[in-house]
Amino acid sequence: MPDQRLSVIIPVLNEERMIDLLAKALVPELEKLDLGWNVLFVDDGSTDRTLDRIRALSAADPRITAISFSRNFGKEQAMAAGLRYATGDCVLIMDADLQHPPHYIAEFVARWRQGGRVVFGQRVNRDADSFLRRKYSDVFHAVFGFLAGARLPRGIVDFVLLDRTAVDAMNALDERTRFTKGMFSWIGFNTAVVPFDTGERVAGKSTFNFLKLLRFALDGIVSFSTLPLRVWSIVGAFVSLGALGYSVYFLVKTLLFKTDVPGFPSLMVSIMFFSGVQMISLGVIGEYVGRIFEEVKHRPLYIVADEVGLADTATNRHG
Ligand code: UDP
Ligand code: MG
Repeated sequence: MPDQRLSVIIPVLNEERMIDLLAKALVPELEKLDLGWNVLFVDDGSTDRTLDRIRALSAADPRITAISFSRNFGKEQAMAAGLRYATGDCVLIMDADLQHPPHYIAEFVARWRQGGRVVFGQRVNRDADSFLRRKYSDVFHAVFGFLAGARLPRGIVDFVLLDRTAVDAMNALDERTRFTKGMFSWIGFNTAVVPFDTGERVAGKSTFNFLKLLRFALDGIVSFSTLPLRVWSIVGAFVSLGALGYSVYFLVKTLLFKTDVPGFPSLMVSIMFFSGVQMISLGVIGEYVGRIFEEVKHRPLYIVADEVGLADTATNRHG
């Protein structure tokens, strides 16, 4: 029996049609590895028969286990729970829809054996995504890179293998607003990259829509950069300087040439412009204050309602 073990974490939300297909593709790949393994599904509050499908698999093979949330908490929380429950010497996170093909797992493990403690999957083709989503993701990466200091390798997704030391580091990050991708980079360590081809989702449908992605992008930026908060003092300084210059110009003009009253349009424009600037800056502060509130409440990230095939690990239930 190999003495090292790989834990595979798979967040699932309403994937009843995928569970069996996934297991059929995944288990043979895991058996090929020179490693012990177990699978931990994190059922993110599915309302279909996902958990029943997993229970059936678990009854046939005790290496397949699951935890089930009391409601939908989101994929970021599901990954956090998985990392806390996972017991392996290395831990792989992947999607359930076979867009993260299991035959790449051997390559992740090889990179890990060569010393990579965080091994990122990197998408080399993005044909499965719509044009809009690709552009959106490009813009996000550019903005994130600029604001948070270009720490995200391009095209990385939540298909990633972590060494035990990196898992422990992730578990030490206690924040409520989770931007897991950024956190993987933030913890540091030797990283490696496995390029992979992603296909279409095999069954079911993607739950991510534009608003969810926008929320996610905002979470990412706000939890990894305070630049949007600080930039307003600089903007404010320039605006005040401009206003000062403008008033001097008016003073001189009035003294030398007397007043010409017209100027109502420019007045309106500047009032509107600067109230806009003020509202934006208030909004930015609001984004941060809202998240500070979330952190201060210190609610658990998730609540586990059921465990399948696990010895009692009650300490993790309200992570
Ligand atoms: N997922 C989840 N909780 C959610 C949404 C999605 O656990 O609230 C899971 C989903 O079951 C899948 C993975 O996260 O295994 C990726 O979801 P999806 O394929 O919908 O996202 P996309 O590939 O479009 O980014
Ligand atoms: Mg998908």
